[in-house]
Amino acid sequence: MILPKANRLTPEQLAEVTAIVSEFGCQIQPIAGAMRTIYAIVGDERDDLMINRLEGLDYVDRIDRIQSPFKLMDRRSDLARGKLIIGGVTLGEELFVIAGQCTIDPKNPTLFYETAAAVKEAGAHVIRGGVWKPRTNPYSFQGDNKSLDILMEASRRTGLPVDTEVMDEEQLQLALDAGVTVLQVGARNALNYSLLRAIGRAIGDRPEVSVLLKRSVHMGPLNEFISAAEYIAAFGNPNIMLCPRGTTPTLDGYRNHPDESATPLLKEKTWAAVVVDPSHSVGKAAYVPAASLAAVAYGADGLCIESHVDPQHGIGDDPKQSITPETLAKVIKQGRAIWDLRRT
Ligand code: PEP
Ligand code: MN
Repeated sequence: MILPKANRLTPEQLAEVTAIVSEFGCQIQPIAGAMRTIYAIVGDERDDLMINRLEGLDYVDRIDRIQSPFKLMDRRSDLARGKLIIGGVTLGEELFVIAGQCTIDPKNPTLFYETAAAVKEAGAHVIRGGVWKPRTNPYSFQGDNKSLDILMEASRRTGLPVDTEVMDEEQLQLALDAGVTVLQVGARNALNYSLLRAIGRAIGDRPEVSVLLKRSVHMGPLNEFISAAEYIAAFGNPNIMLCPRGTTPTLDGYRNHPDESATPLLKEKTWAAVVVDPSHSVGKAAYVPAASLAAVAYGADGLCIESHVDPQHGIGDDPKQSITPETLAKVIKQGRAIWDLRRT
């Protein structure tokens, strides 16, 4: 990793370092943080000769040689100095909340607009709404491109950014073209390295876009989770939130095994914001408030909660696990109190 003395390299300096590393079979990938741009050396960067030549350049502050499988996501990386700002919130400075329906019903846009307005009123900063859904059964509702228009209309009406899951490159492109701010990578695709790479490539130079990366139920050691994030960051966009969302084996009665206790461990290893999804962790509306508050107590920067004005008339996960906006407002209020207590 090349850390320049100035905020970024000039085009001539970039050309010079690119020429040096290419002699050693490497390439340069700029990573634009909020404060300054740093330059990842992609390839085998262990050659001392290459490092010596780079260190000799008068515009280079230092070369970071972090020995980590995730050198960008590592706490010790220069990216740790960056800030992630979404929907007017600087992650880490106040409790950040993404909320909204699991699934948008394309036949009932009004319901989604009502949900969007109500979760905003409850205190959410980003509206979530599933346009395309990963369903176990191929005959279950799979989502609908029309819902993307509904999602964006809700964004216009509320003035809030929106979050939706993308499962392939076509959906990724549609979501980006429409103006989706938070791209969600679901638990099923968090190990889909082609998709992670495609997302990284597509948003490498789109600093207004962020990614909410769920933890796959098939991920064991947290390094696997962080390395998945590294795939995205490696193409230049460090706006990544890690999202524990429950894992297996399950606890009797819960949909998954709540894994919000991963938060302090993730924070020891990486600088990334942790935004916990209590809804899929427990899978039942009645348990979501406690799981949300536990997540804040464990040190989460934010929560991603399924909420619906009329869960019984929702689709996807909404009838079972969405909480009402009234309950959401209470959870946010209590979550903020725990946030404040964390500081005492
Ligand atoms: C969702 O957010 O609705 C969803 C499908 O989540 P996960 O990928 O965590 O199962
Ligand atoms: Mn869901």
